[in-house]
This record gives sequence, structure tokens and C-alpha cells, in this order.
Amino acid sequence: MTYTPERPLRVGIVGAGPAGFFAADALIKQDVPVSVDLFDRLPTPFGLVRYGVAPDHQKIKSVTRLYQKTLDDPRVRFFGHVSYGQDLTLTELRRFYDAIIYTVGAPSDRPLGIPGETLTGSISATEFVAWYNGHPDYAELSPELSMGSVAVVGMGNVAVDVTRILAKTADELLQTDIADHAVEALRHSQVRDIYMLGRRGPAQGKFTTKELRELGELTNADVVVDPADMELDPISEASLAEDPMVAKNIEVLREFSVRAQTGRPRRVHIKFLSSPVAVLGDTKVEGLRVEKNELRDRGGVLAAVGTGETEVLPVGLVLRSVGYRGVALPGVPFDEKRSVIPNERGRVTASAGGTVVPGEYVAGWIKRGPTGVIGTNKADAAESVRCLLEDAPGLARVVDTDAAPESVERFLEAKGVQFFSFDHWLELDALELEAGRAQGRPRVKLTRVEEMLRRNRVT
Ligand code: NAP
Repeated sequence: MTYTPERPLRVGIVGAGPAGFFAADALIKQDVPVSVDLFDRLPTPFGLVRYGVAPDHQKIKSVTRLYQKTLDDPRVRFFGHVSYGQDLTLTELRRFYDAIIYTVGAPSDRPLGIPGETLTGSISATEFVAWYNGHPDYAELSPELSMGSVAVVGMGNVAVDVTRILAKTADELLQTDIADHAVEALRHSQVRDIYMLGRRGPAQGKFTTKELRELGELTNADVVVDPADMELDPISEASLAEDPMVAKNIEVLREFSVRAQTGRPRRVHIKFLSSPVAVLGDTKVEGLRVEKNELRDRGGVLAAVGTGETEVLPVGLVLRSVGYRGVALPGVPFDEKRSVIPNERGRVTASAGGTVVPGEYVAGWIKRGPTGVIGTNKADAAESVRCLLEDAPGLARVVDTDAAPESVERFLEAKGVQFFSFDHWLELDALELEAGRAQGRPRVKLTRVEEMLRRNRVT
């Protein structure tokens, strides 16, 4: 079929985070006439940029200006507060769209698989991040901050983010768009020692140098690295020449390890070769047993192997920051092993390496797994959109009555779904920015769905 401005290629995108916006942008920047609808289960757009990127990293959040421009294009519409599977099922989506792109990210977390992991006070960094960023699902989280010590398990950028937020003062945090409930709780935090635990060595840290350096620039915390941890094994030493970022990370960590402590109120302990083996306590966390590891060469990859030597850290909060995890969508194939939607360059397949499911595509973390920065999703989404466009001539399956852009709106209204449009978002955005201006902050977020809907008179 040849698409025309009167009967454009109709694409429905499920998930209005970075991958969804980059996919929408790639679709409107090519020659086939298109009409794109972006759905999100929350009233607000931008996904992980709003609810994942750290509140003190506002520069990274400025990418939303580009996304907003995409929404300004008359060919793109936003439908917030529409849940896939409930408000709109796969069968219903198929009725209105020639192609569907899943861009739902990786909303869950990987477990550690150790005893005591489910005790009160042991939570995932995913939840903690969503809480301080004002995600409506986590507004009630109330993390345990009345004990003197916290353990953050993992050595990626998420671990660095949560460590930094725990270490900063409430006044520093008040200069950001952190959720009001979080800054209030953090203002009363008794936390003095934050232990960031890496199971492997300093050369295997997953953090980037810029983020690592920030830990050394905290005004409210000293950074502590054991000089003994900085004696590298031959394989780690060789990796410095192969990877400039590893070399820079080691340089920064070596400088941390010889720094004199200045008696700042908090301490960030970056501990390597340390694996949690049990979260201790009856009903709530009272400590974390940690085993010392050594590195063994497993076919060129250095693996952590326990030495049997353990210590107990007296922590009241354990934040597991060992990676995000994708979750299956009803009716859509799922690769349980990798927690992604199986796909061939973005074309959904029935199973890993299986046959292609016509008209269904995937982009972002749910396509490739939870790695890479926001910008990584641009090329990722572009690849999926290229495949979609190659297939486009054979995709048109929507009957003419359902191809009209109003049909999906009418359908949702008839079903009683109170969707949030781009105009609603603009109003909410203006409201949050205005509240921010009044307090000298980038924005003050609304954190309850009911409030978002009420303020915008959707209800
Ligand atoms: P990540 O970079 O994959 O780091 C996960 C960490 O968890 C690694 O240190 C890993 O160690 C450790 N780990 C995994 N399983 C473990 C276990 N069983 N016990 C102990 N440790 C374990 O994941 P992330 O920090 O969640 O970040 C996700 C992505 O978002 C990354 O690409 C990150 O760069 C990006 N991000 C970027 C920014 C930024 O640019 N500012 C901020 C936040 C996130 P091993 O290496 O030993 O497996």
C-alpha cells in the first residue's frame, strides 16, 4: 500500500520514554506520510528522563526540549494515563495501528538471590530512584534513613547516583527538582556512612569517570577508598592500556585512596572485592554480611570468587543497584532469560531467533537490555524504525474507518479512559515550572496521579 497524507502509516508507540520519543522523531523525519500516537500509563511523558535521571543532573534532563518539539509536530499525539493491556489491549491496538512499537523500558530490578533480601529496609535502587524523583507509584516508599549506615550494592552509574543523593545536604537537594517528600525525608536522615559495594575490582567498575569524580566533589561527605584495593592484578593492569575510561577511573580512585579525611559529616566508602552474602535481621534490616572476594580469570573475563572471609556492616538500609530488568507485556513474546522482547534488529520475533511477528517492533531497554545512556536509544530506535519502514508497504491492515485519527480517541472516551493529552501536559508542565520559579528550583513535581488529573480538570 502507498501511504498518503489522507491515509498515513499509523504507528502506535507504547511507552513515552526516551526510546519512544526517539522512535517518534525518526518516524517524522522520513518521507512516508505517518501519524504517530505515543501512549504512556502515566499522565506525564518522558519516562526515565523524568523519573530516572538524577535530580541534580538537570543538564541531562534538557533532552526533553527535543521530545517536546517532537510532540509539537501535528503528526504526533500523546495519550498519557493509558495502560497497555487494560485501557488498550493488543487486539485493540492492532485495530487502530498498522505498526506498534514497544518502548516500555525495564521497570523492574534484578534480585541478588541472598537470604534476607526481602526484609523491610532492603529495597532496589530502582524503587529508591523512582521515590526521590517523584514517580507516583513510589510516593509512599519511606526508606529507612534513621540508622547511621546504608549499603549500596553495585558499581554502576545508578549506584553512584543514589550514593550521591544520600550524601548531599537537604539544602543542596532543594536546588533540584527532587520530590518534596524525598527532600523532607532526606533532611532528617541520620545516615553518616554510605558503603558502595563492588563484587569485582576497581578496574571493573561500571561507572563513568565524570560520575565517579562527582563523589570526590561532595561538600558534605569525604570519600574513602582503601589503598590496598588499588593494587591491581595483571589482567586489570593490562586493561588500563586497552580502555581509556578504565585508566581514568583508576587515576581518580587512586587519588581518592590517598586523600586525607577532612571530617565532613558523611563518608562514602567505595569498597571493592566485596559481595553481600546475607541481609541480617528478624523483620527489618539490621546489618549486611559481606564476603571478601578475589578475582579469577574465567576465559579472559575476571570473575569474583569468595574467599570465605566475611565482615558485617551495621546498615539499616540496603539498596540493591545491580541492574534494571524488563517485564513481560500481555500478549507480547518475552525472552525470560534476558528479560527483553525477543527481536531481530527491532522486529519482534516469536522467540529468541524465532519467526518475525508482523507489524510489531521494539526499541530501547526492552529491546537490548538495560545498558547505555539516554542518547544510546537514538540509534537503537532509528534501527527499529528503519526495519518498520522497510516493511511498511505490506503493513497496512487497519480498515479505513479505524484509520481516522479520531477513532482511537473516540474508542478511549467510550471506554471511560481519562487520557492526558499534550495540552494537558503543557498545562501541568507550566504549573510545575511556575511552582519551581517561586522557590528558585527547576520545577516542583506533582507526584500523585489524581492530583495531576484534577489540576488539569481531566476529572
Ligand atoms: P550497570 O551499569 O550494569 O551496573 C550494575 C552493577 O551491578 C555492576 O557493578 C555489576 O557488577 C553489579 N552487579 C550485578 N550483579 C551483581 C551481584 N549479584 N552482586 C553484586 N554486584 C552485582 O547498571 P546500572 O547502574 O543500573 O545502570 C544502567 C545503565 O544506565 C548503565 O548503562 C548506566 O551507565 C546508565 N546510567 C547512566 C547514568 C549517567 O549517565 N549519569 C546514570 C544512571 C544510569 P559486575 O560488573 O561485576 O557484573
